[in-house]
Amino acid sequence: MKSPDVIIIGGGIVGSSIAYHLTEAGCSNVLILERESHQGKGSTGKSMGGVRAQFSTSESIKMSMYSIPFFSTFDDVMGHPSGYRAQGYLFVATSQRHLDYLCQNYNRQVAAGLKTVHLLKPDDVAHIAPEIRNDDILGGAFCSTDGFVDPHSVMTGFALKAVERGVRILRDTEVTAIHTDAQGVCGVVTNNGTYSSRTIVNAAGAWAGALARLAGVDLPVEPLRRMLVPTEPFDKVAHTSPMVVDMTSGFHYRPEGRGILMAWNDPDETPGFKLNFDRAFIEKVLTRGVDRLPCLEEAEVNPKRAWAGLYEMTPDHHPVLGPVKSLPGFFLANGFSGHGVMHSPATGRITADLILKGHTDLIDSPLLSIDRFTNGHLLHETAIL
Ligand SMILES: Cc1cc2nc3c(=O)[nH]c(=O)nc-3n(C[C@H](O)[C@H](O)[C@H](O)COP(=O)(O)OP(=O)(O)OC[C@H]3O[C@@H](n4cnc5c(N)ncnc54)[C@H](O)[C@@H]3O)c2cc1C
Repeated sequence: MKSPDVIIIGGGIVGSSIAYHLTEAGCSNVLILERESHQGKGSTGKSMGGVRAQFSTSESIKMSMYSIPFFSTFDDVMGHPSGYRAQGYLFVATSQRHLDYLCQNYNRQVAAGLKTVHLLKPDDVAHIAPEIRNDDILGGAFCSTDGFVDPHSVMTGFALKAVERGVRILRDTEVTAIHTDAQGVCGVVTNNGTYSSRTIVNAAGAWAGALARLAGVDLPVEPLRRMLVPTEPFDKVAHTSPMVVDMTSGFHYRPEGRGILMAWNDPDETPGFKLNFDRAFIEKVLTRGVDRLPCLEEAEVNPKRAWAGLYEMTPDHHPVLGPVKSLPGFFLANGFSGHGVMHSPATGRITADLILKGHTDLIDSPLLSIDRFTNGHLLHETAIL
């Protein structure tokens, strides 16, 4: 397969979903190039696996409204488990400003057709998450179809189905150059040979900026370290709990195995390819955690089980999707800013549509094209964790 119809660079959840969706539309002469010995060693294998439709913009909401029903039927369609658990996301507000914000987002979500989201009174919040301190809670929002998936398993399901239909995956294969000519992109050079194609997709996750530069494209995607801390087995939080988000501190958690998994967006974190786990983070996350979830005082944490990965950030926290007009045949599926797992099904469908038909009916795709960084029409997603 030296001349595939489509080359996808990066075999994480996004590249795998694109390959699957191309085959769904009848395009199977596809080659995925992955530099690691196994798929999932990038951000996909580090993710918290949260999926939600509670966003602030129509484009993000529409991407979730394709993706979440997709996860709910994934096991039957793919013959492989997604691990989807519809346990919901609960946003908890302790200020009027946050309540107003939830209300504004709720109206946008309902207008987009979401039926499973509700605004909550303090008593409803206490009912859904009885473990949390509720003396200062003014209200919240809950969407019952939000929840979690197993990112590695979703990626594997997409990849296995794509391979069954003729897609090839080359591992240990790093793209080191992208060739272009007067017509656009024409091929790639790897440590494992050269491959020619008139359609090349950048699905390189946090490394997408460097990959785009190989093609002379300036793509504003920056890596940002993100750390997660699991507790040891702990039975004070129900295993049916939703993802609970304290909007005031940013602390959030969800059940994981026999304990819980804790996260917090550290405002002091700076961009860079930092993959080491910083032990000082444990105290930071626990301080915020105990404040909202007092029973955490009794939880144990083993620092060796905590980990760090990379978010792929864009200036407006929306992904960059679709063709690069100045370089025909070069497509982008990057910059998910913390939402690449939950939006992987929609991204696969949108990218396959844009490659094969030149348009998609799933979102208003020009809004998410790379052009927005030069024409100044940024579209800010503010519901980020
Ligand atoms: C701690 C953490 C928690 C997260 N929580 C969530 C969450 O709850 N929900 C959610 O939706 N998202 C979450 N995310 C974000 C999500 O994990 C990412 O957005 C998603 O995994 C991106 O998938 P990807 O396939 O684009 O990237 P990756 O999984 O990073 O895959 C990119 C692949 O490209 C390969 N590659 C790079 N350069 C080259 C090259 N030159 N040649 C060949 N191959 C190359 C890499 O080896 C890698 O395998 C989280 C991320 C982190 C780090």
